[in-house]
Amino acid sequence: MRIDKWLSNTGYGSRKEVKHLLKSGAVKLNGSVIKDPKTQADPEKDHVLVHEEEVIYKEFIYLMMNKPQGVISATEDTRHETVVDLLYMEDQNFEPFPVGRLDIDTEGLLILTNDGQLAHTLLSPKKHVPKTYFAKINGSIPDDAFATFKEGVILEDGYKTKPAYLKVLQNNTDESEIELTITEGKFHQVKRMFEAIGRKVVYLQRIQMGQLKLDESLDLGMYRELTEEELSLLS
Ligand code: URA
Repeated sequence: MRIDKWLSNTGYGSRKEVKHLLKSGAVKLNGSVIKDPKTQADPEKDHVLVHEEEVIYKEFIYLMMNKPQGVISATEDTRHETVVDLLYMEDQNFEPFPVGRLDIDTEGLLILTNDGQLAHTLLSPKKHVPKTYFAKINGSIPDDAFATFKEGVILEDGYKTKPAYLKVLQNNTDESEIELTITEGKFHQVKRMFEAIGRKVVYLQRIQMGQLKLDESLDLGMYRELTEEELSLLS
C-alpha cells in the first residue's frame, strides 16, 4: 500500500496534507526517513513512525450517518449528491460504501463501511436483521393494521411480506405516527406496505438496525465512527 494512503487512512489528514508531512521529514519507514508519497509499505510487517510515534494501521472504517433527504445511498451518481460525497476526504480514502439503501427522501440511520463481510452479514436475507423505521402516515391507522403486518401483507406485485411489528405512537384522522420493524429490505418496502393498507407514508426515518440505534445527537448529514461497543452489536 502507498504510504500516503496508509497515513491518510490513519487520520493524518488528506493526501495533500500527508504529502507535506512526508516532505517535512517527519515520517520514518523501518527506521529511515521517507519523503516519497508513492513509497510502498506493508501494514503486516513494516513499521511506520510519524514524529517518532508508531502508526497503527487500520484496515476498516465503520461510520454511522444520519442521512438527510435529497442525497442518495450510493458511492457515485451523475445527478445527485451521494452519502459518500458528505464524508471528509480522509474518510473517503477508505472507500466506504453504504450498507443497504435508503430512499432519497428517507432520513436516518445509515452505516457506511469498507468491510464487505460486515455489509454482507447485515444485508443477507438469511440473517433477518431487523430494521426499525419511524414514519408519519397520512390518515389514521386501521385497527387491524398490527395483525395485518404481523401476518404479512400482500404488496402490489403479489409479494407477501414477512412478519413485521407495528407500534402506533399517535393515531389521528389527519396524520399518524408509527414505528415499524421489518426483517427484509424490499424496494420501498415500508411505503409499499402502507400503500397495501390504503395509506401513504409522508415521512420516513430509519431509527435502528439490529441492536444499533441512531445517535439522535447527530445532525442530519453528520456522521461519526461507531464505538467498539456499537460495532459489537452488529456482528
Ligand atoms: N422502506 C422504504 O419504503 N424506504 C426506505 O428508504 C426504507 C424502507
